[in-house]
Amino acid sequence: MKLKTRLMVAFCIIIILPIALAGAAILGLYRIQTKAIQKNYGLEASDTQGVLSNSLQLMSRYTKTEYDEICKQAKADPEKLESVSYLTEVNTKLQEKSSYLIFCKNGILVYNGYHGDSSISDEQWEKQLPSYGEGDSSTGAAYYVDNDAQSLLKQVDFESSRGDQCSVYIITSSESIQPEIKKLMIDIGLSVLLILALTAGVMTIWIYRGTMVPIKKLQVATKNIKEGNLDFVLDVEGTDEFSELCRDFEEMRRRLKESTEEKMAAEKENRALISNIAHDLKTPITAVKGYSEGILDGVADTPEKQERYIRTIYNKANEMDRLLNELTLYSKIDTNRIPYNFKKINVSDYFNDCIEEIGLDLETRGIGLTYFNYADENIVIIADPEQLMRVVNNIVTNAIKYMDKQKGQINVRIKDVGDFIQVEIEDNGKGISARDLPYIFDRFYRGDASRKDKKHFGLGLSIAKELTEMHGGTLAVHDNPGGGSRFVVTLTLQQA
Ligand code: ADP
Repeated sequence: MKLKTRLMVAFCIIIILPIALAGAAILGLYRIQTKAIQKNYGLEASDTQGVLSNSLQLMSRYTKTEYDEICKQAKADPEKLESVSYLTEVNTKLQEKSSYLIFCKNGILVYNGYHGDSSISDEQWEKQLPSYGEGDSSTGAAYYVDNDAQSLLKQVDFESSRGDQCSVYIITSSESIQPEIKKLMIDIGLSVLLILALTAGVMTIWIYRGTMVPIKKLQVATKNIKEGNLDFVLDVEGTDEFSELCRDFEEMRRRLKESTEEKMAAEKENRALISNIAHDLKTPITAVKGYSEGILDGVADTPEKQERYIRTIYNKANEMDRLLNELTLYSKIDTNRIPYNFKKINVSDYFNDCIEEIGLDLETRGIGLTYFNYADENIVIIADPEQLMRVVNNIVTNAIKYMDKQKGQINVRIKDVGDFIQVEIEDNGKGISARDLPYIFDRFYRGDASRKDKKHFGLGLSIAKELTEMHGGTLAVHDNPGGGSRFVVTLTLQQA
């Protein structure tokens, strides 16, 4: 899952799930607690909602039984209300409901059921409490503020048989009352907190697990690369952004490994190249040195000998010049520094001229040349005439070099093969051994025959191949069943 989707899902779950769970928890706790409240406060199920929303009503309900009883007594038997034992009995019941009872006769405190702060004197009580007849006659309930604490006060006034003005007060403290409501609130608060913490925790683990697995693998891979180890595979499945990042990283590692291997191979090749050049230059230079010393030391003591020595030095210098020329050309091709002059050339015209040029040289060497053009007269290719000539020359030069027959023969055929033309150059020389065949296009590779003759450097065919490829073509060698070798240059046709 994509990280974006994962975060969106987590966000929705963190919002929706706690709301749903908290709703369910609130409903459940509300049901349990309202049952307890109904039982404690003597409420009917239908009354509960209204009563709960009005704390004054709830507190009033709490002591309703005792209040009703006192009212009844005040009418039926006021004398009983003046009895301390009766007042203590009612007060004991009230204490269970966080309430207490006070009785005043003619404004004088006669009975005080309060068991709290005893520093309040009777006079203070008398001052704070409403006087006879001041109470709310409709409900009998009023708020009474004692310092900062709020209390509900219910007052029952009656006249005794002796004409005394008596008041019974039922005082209920708002601080100690409504324990169930408080508990309900605390329970709801706690359960909401718990649900929030649980949902957020589960979602955090879910996101963490989804992202940490690929990140950990990536960390290991980065460490490997830092230490120069590219031989590992970073294998991560999944469609999230981190997994994609891992796959890109793996691709980067693969390419880095390839390029490092290529670099190492190139370095190895360069070392071989330097060693080959040094080796190929050493032979003629040793000869030049030897013959020069011969002249200087007077070993060449006759004019004929001296001329032979000087000619050898000249030939060796020529050999080195050829090697350096070939090397320069090869390096130019390799580093793409050859100024190609590509143009449209007519195949028939071009090869007619080419064959004419080669033919003269072959004639002087006594080698036969046949030329067959099977392609259409108007066929055109795009090529650099000079470089294409170099390709043909290198192949023909080899055919001459490795010719071992009295009656040497070279056949050149131009064939039209669909979108390509093929130039076949076939000779009847010694041919190429199966052992040499896979390597003849490698630079500095020399076959057995060439190795004996120190004049060849093994660059001719590699130059020809590079040049053909620069033309978008291919150069291949084929077994010639009749002996000798057959090289095929394939070039792309230029459509009209
Ligand atoms: P070299 O300077 O040795 O000729 P090339 O790159 O031109 O280098 O050729 C590579 C090798 O391929 C030669 O050493 C030779 O063994 C073999 N070869 C190339 N052309 C021919 C051919 N026409 N007949 C026989 N062997 C050939």
